[in-house]
Amino acid sequence: MKPIVALVGRPNVGKSTLFNRLIGERRAIVEDIPGTTRDRLYGDTEWNGRVFTVVDTAGLLLDEDDLTPGTPQLEIARRVREQAELAIAESDAIIFIVDSREGLTAADAAVAEVLRRTDKPVVLAANKADNHERAMNAVEFYALNLGEPIPMSAYHGIGVGDVLDRVTEALPVVEMEEDETAVKIAIVGRPNVGKSSLLNRLIGQERSVVSDIPGTTRDSIDTPIEIGGVRALLIDTAGIRRRGKIDRGLERYSVMRALRAIERADVALLLIDATEGVTAQDTHIAGMILESLKGVAILVNKWDLVVKDAYTFDQFSRHVREAFKFMSYAPLLFISAKTGQRVDKVLPLALDIARNRQRRIPTSELNTLLRRAVYEHPPTAVHKGAHLRLYYATQPQVAPPVFLFFANQAEQVHWGYARYLENRIREQYDFTGTPIKIVFRTRA
Ligand code: GDP
Ligand code: GDP
Repeated sequence: MKPIVALVGRPNVGKSTLFNRLIGERRAIVEDIPGTTRDRLYGDTEWNGRVFTVVDTAGLLLDEDDLTPGTPQLEIARRVREQAELAIAESDAIIFIVDSREGLTAADAAVAEVLRRTDKPVVLAANKADNHERAMNAVEFYALNLGEPIPMSAYHGIGVGDVLDRVTEALPVVEMEEDETAVKIAIVGRPNVGKSSLLNRLIGQERSVVSDIPGTTRDSIDTPIEIGGVRALLIDTAGIRRRGKIDRGLERYSVMRALRAIERADVALLLIDATEGVTAQDTHIAGMILESLKGVAILVNKWDLVVKDAYTFDQFSRHVREAFKFMSYAPLLFISAKTGQRVDKVLPLALDIARNRQRRIPTSELNTLLRRAVYEHPPTAVHKGAHLRLYYATQPQVAPPVFLFFANQAEQVHWGYARYLENRIREQYDFTGTPIKIVFRTRA
């Protein structure tokens, strides 16, 4: 399980600069997808052999036009405190960034007060320590009572390694007794879409609930179940709320919680509220599922509340399809967690998706498919005139399925051709609910 490291700090201390340095060139798949978040707020990085997810909490909390220059200090302090609370609730370690050029501010002190109350490791990074003199200034932040301030220059890449050393030393080894043979199914969605209701229904209809494992160190409640002899684990992300710690700003917290559940899952069940339609938050969560290349089904819940005529179903389907164009492989199911309508279809669908994610196409069949595809529609090149040849294909990986195509000039293959090949594969094999990755490589 990947730990989450949150970046906390006032505006302009250098959070995004550090974030970009940590995430580096790893491009998020979702960045170019309309409707998903424009700014990347989380990404994976590795240090000392440990992989963790870095989250810029400010980005999660702030709206675009917020905190324009001249915003009162009090407002800034409040916002940063909110970041700190979010970080404490949802992450495994916190990097608290301060500005050694400006020195200690009242807002820093207010945040420190919140951060001192948590048991989670906090690493204090004194940024903009671009030179020796500024690095010396960092000692001033001892006053925050959060341990040794580490001088860092995110911009120049100085001291970032020291900060990461501290972080990886402090990161708890998250011991999860995961049942590796069970299919992990996460129920995700905005607050109030009906996640808990669905979970209760699903559990209620299964005779063989083994036991309830209340999350102690984790953010979700796992329920092991058995469906027709197949072991599965339901990961519910709603649980923590009922434990009553957080009741404010639910919408915001839910994003990080969904992220963590998705990371652990094989298949994510994304719930949409039929009475509200698809919202930005829904596509945001969908973007996370896509980026982590997990299986997905879209469940339109509260279908009982919709006043229907002969066209409603088609209209709503179109609306959902349009909003989730980037996930056209996701099956749609209209359910009511309340009345139980079609809820019996949910788990079988999730298991089908899990199986599709594991599907492996024999190399010979794949190459027959490739030859036919190329014959009917030769590869299109980025630069006209390039003489493109596709030699052969293999599937080196499942979950998610990855297909490797060897070409004479891989970089010349037009992206549209990847789409074409993907469609050909999907026509012939059932990959419903799972993304597949198409990779071109130049054969030596
Ligand atoms: P955020 O609001 O906390 O995300 O801060 P940004 O990352 O956007 O940085 C704010 C400004 O500080 C930008 O102009 C950065 O280029 C600058 N900055 C960030 N890190 C450093 C640093 O290590 N040294 C210096 N001199 N400037 C930095
Ligand atoms: P969560 O926050 O996603 O876990 O949502 P809940 O399961 O707590 O549901 C939020 C509210 O929506 C509750 O009042 C539920 O009774 C209601 N609800 C959930 N699913 C349905 C449904 O399919 N139909 C109707 N009519 N109400 C539902």
